[in-house]
Amino acid sequence: MNYRIKKISIIPIQIELNEPFVISKGPLTHARNTVVKIFLEEGQYGIGECCPYRTIHGETQDGTVAAGKDLAQLLIGQDVREIRQCIKIIDKSLAGNASIKCAFDMALYDLNAKLVELPLYRYLQGDNSKKIYTDMTVSLLPVEEMVKRAVKFKEDGFPVIKVKLGDRPSAKDVERIAAIRKAIGMELPIRIDANQGWNYLEAKRALQSLEAYNIEHCEAPLPCQNFIDIQKLNQESPIPIMGDESVFSHQDAYRMLAVDGIQLINIKLGKAGGICHAMKIASVAQAAGVYCQVGSFSETRVGISALVHFSKAWDNIIYYDLDSPLMQSEDPVIGGMVYHNDWEVTVDDSPGHGADFDPEFLKKFPSFDIQ
Ligand SMILES: [Mg+2]
Repeated sequence: MNYRIKKISIIPIQIELNEPFVISKGPLTHARNTVVKIFLEEGQYGIGECCPYRTIHGETQDGTVAAGKDLAQLLIGQDVREIRQCIKIIDKSLAGNASIKCAFDMALYDLNAKLVELPLYRYLQGDNSKKIYTDMTVSLLPVEEMVKRAVKFKEDGFPVIKVKLGDRPSAKDVERIAAIRKAIGMELPIRIDANQGWNYLEAKRALQSLEAYNIEHCEAPLPCQNFIDIQKLNQESPIPIMGDESVFSHQDAYRMLAVDGIQLINIKLGKAGGICHAMKIASVAQAAGVYCQVGSFSETRVGISALVHFSKAWDNIIYYDLDSPLMQSEDPVIGGMVYHNDWEVTVDDSPGHGADFDPEFLKKFPSFDIQ
């Protein structure tokens, strides 16, 4: 069998969201994702996906397509079994661009697991008995709109609600959480995410005031470049701080943990550049005895399937934010991860990550083929 990469297809897709997804950086109305398919000569392929989030990655969909064509040229003819060598090639040729690199990495892992006929979790030495339940996220909106959604998500049976904050002054965010708690009670766990919206003073005030509301943890209270004030905040905050935008890479994880700037890490394949580098972040966290969450941008069930398989391989990943497909107006994915009524998320033993796009859906979009 010929294991050399024969062809790579890059397909920009678009899916409308059920309603705009709003964070402190602004609203998102559509998932504009980029799909990468890596083919061998005999037609076997692996599939990956990324969701470039322009306000977080600094990458756009057009940019990922352009960069993807460039990276694809470098991988044609490479032995697909040499995952780390392939990733070394793309990392060496282009700094940053974690989003599009993630789509390539995901396709490489999917194809390799398929070649040995293993589900991806097993290829990554994971354990499928590990239970995973997703939260559901409330957008940053006027307080009554947020309350309405939180009540609905409680009725829907979600085991945890995540609430987007990061408004200034942060007293408005405290009002939001107070109103949500009044409506849904104190027991259902709430996690919050400021998406870098506060400064040190606003964050300190908010986190101290929110102590009374049973908050599990807080993602990204400060701008990600500010790894000075985050150290003070981490010391003073009654609510554990989780690094998200401040931890793209394993080097970021090392820095943020070494300066005692965070207590928890949110791992996203789309920030790390895929599974290969995300495993390094999980390892750094494990060495430091730090728990992790896995999260997403606006990936479909293809990207989330890969993330679920990855999560099965790391017992220090204990929080799950896997709700992005639930916000999309259509589900164009065949196979892959499944949501259950109690919001448990499972994957089966299909080879690879088990998910693929409906060919009819992909036909609606251009495919750029490099060979
Ligand atoms: Mg976050």
